[in-house]
This record gives sequence, structure tokens and C-alpha cells, in this order.
Amino acid sequence: RSKKLQDGSWCWYDADADEDGRRRGQIAIGLRSAIADGALRLVYQPQISMKKRELLGFEALLRWSSPQLGDVSPAEFIPVAEQTGIIVEIGDWVLMQACHEATQWPAPTGVAVNVSPVQLMRPNFAERLTEILDETGLAPTRLEIEITETMLIDNPGQALLVLRKIKALGVRVAMDDFGTGYSSLSTLFSFPFDKIKVDRSFLNALGRQAQATSVIETVIELGHKLSIPVLAEGVETDFQAAFLKDRRCDEAQGFLYGRPVDSSTAHALALSGTWQDDGDAKLSA
Ligand code: C2E
Ligand code: MG
Ligand code: MG
Ligand code: MG
Repeated sequence: RSKKLQDGSWCWYDADADEDGRRRGQIAIGLRSAIADGALRLVYQPQISMKKRELLGFEALLRWSSPQLGDVSPAEFIPVAEQTGIIVEIGDWVLMQACHEATQWPAPTGVAVNVSPVQLMRPNFAERLTEILDETGLAPTRLEIEITETMLIDNPGQALLVLRKIKALGVRVAMDDFGTGYSSLSTLFSFPFDKIKVDRSFLNALGRQAQATSVIETVIELGHKLSIPVLAEGVETDFQAAFLKDRRCDEAQGFLYGRPVDSSTAHALALSGTWQDDGDAKLSA
């Protein structure tokens, strides 16, 4: 396709890229008022211990129902929020909301919150986290921060300082989407993680790609050697659960154990100590 420029000449352009750009622009504008619109909410997905067969806590996942665009997936709007910087404000709201809602659940049910590198690398992140814990009254030991390794690569020195401050508060830090970044092994070695979350793409490939088995087994073994618990993301089938159990994977999360639910449903699940799709049958599979 071609397009006429202002000087009257013509040039080639990519209509799809144009369309993408327009959509991102709409998302960027919509996000500016998302908090004020009351259009953000958190849902919570169970995380379970495979060994003890118990519910450990929930991962908080952000949902946005835009008045203009309808439901937009975080996979689509988080990158835009990071580019525009609005993620700092939204991430603050997420932390406050997740900590507040978790205080309603029976202790010691935990909550895991995704934190963007942009947010984490702000100079006052640890101080702000302290304030949020104080204001909501959540015990720091019930909170876990999930980060991906991209942030550690760009600025490892500063990242290490922030992680140390967070851990000094008693808050745990998990490495999310392990295996998808560039320097997994070196980051694991240099940063004080409390948990490794194996990316769900590996579990997805299980039984379909020969190497997936070896990769998952190796990560579990690595975690055990470093004394870091390993959580498998995206467990959907009994076959996957049985595989993980057999390899002594510590923790799991996925549609098999429950889809994300609202805070009051999470509360009820935590009280009953079970999870959606009742766990015992699934876990013993
Ligand atoms: P993530 O942190 O790796 O979260 C796990 C994602 O996998 C969630 O997608 C969850 O719904 C999905 N999932 C869980 N179990 C299964 C399963 O068994 N099968 C399949 N196919 N999917 C499963 P979601 O909620 O769409 O979030 C996507 C990503 O957006 C998250 O990946 C995270 O990187 C980001 N995100 C979500 N909420 C927040 C937030 O509050 N702050 C930040 N910074 N990022 C967030
Ligand atoms: Mg996560
Ligand atoms: Mg993940
Ligand atoms: Mg992810």
C-alpha cells in the first residue's frame, strides 16, 4: 500500500503497523483514567504446594475493563503502560489493592504481586512498599513480589540493591517466567530469589517437544541444588501434574488447580483450604 505525503510525493507504508499504533494510542489514553474510572480490578489464581497438597496463596492478576475498548488483556496493556510510564501509578494501585485484599484472607495465605521493572527501579520503591505494608497492615511474610529477569539485565547493580531492601523487609522475591529471558543462569546465581517460576511455555511443550521434559527436570533439579523452591506455571492437565509430582516439583499453578477468581472467592477457598476443581483428586493423579 502507498500513502501520499504532505509534499505531494508517495511512499510505502504498513497498514497493519498503522492499525497497531492506533490501538496502542487508544490503550495509552484509556489507561490514564483507568484508576479514576474504577475500571481496574484484581483476580487471584491459586498457588498450591504439590508436596503438602495445600493452598499456599494466590497470584494477583490485573484486569482492565475499559469503557471505550472493553476488556483488554494485561499481555496487551502492561507493555503500553510501561512505555508511557503510567505503570508506576497503576503498579502502586495494584500493590495497595492486593495487600489490602489479602488482609481479609485467613493468615498465612500469601499473595504474589507482579511488579514491572519500571516500577521496581524507581528510587523510592522499597520505601513505598514499606508504607503500603504499614497502611494495609499485611504481614510482610505474606507478600511475594514477582519479577522477570529483563530488569536485572538492564541495571544489575541497582536491581540487586532494591531486591536486598525488599528482602530486608521480610518480603519474598520470585523470578517469573524463568527460562524465557537471556541470562537465566547468571541472574539466578547473582540474585537472592526465594522462588523460581518455570515459564508455562515449557509445560505446554511437555509431551510434544522432546526437550521440554529435560528442561523442566533440569530446572527442578537446579532449584533443589540451590535450595530454591520451584513453581510450575500453566498446569492444565493431569498428565502434567503427574509428571511434576514425579519429579518432585515443589509448587504449581494453572487452570487445573483453578482459574483466577475475585478476592471474596479467594477468601472462601483459603478458608476451606481447598481450591477450585478440588485438589486432592487432581494432585494424586
Ligand atoms: P504472568 O505473571 O506469568 O501470569 C501468569 C499468566 O498465565 C496469567 O495471564 C494467567 O491467567 C495465565 N495462566 C495461568 N494458568 C494458566 C494455564 O493453566 N493455562 C494458560 N494458558 N494460562 C494460564 P494474564 O492474567 O493474562 O497475565 C499475563 C501477564 O501480564 C502476566 O504473566 C504478567 O506478566 C502481566 N501482568 C498481569 N497482572 C499484572 C500486574 O498487576 N502488574 C504487572 N506489572 N504485570 C501484570
Ligand atoms: Mg507472574
Ligand atoms: Mg509467569
Ligand atoms: Mg508472563
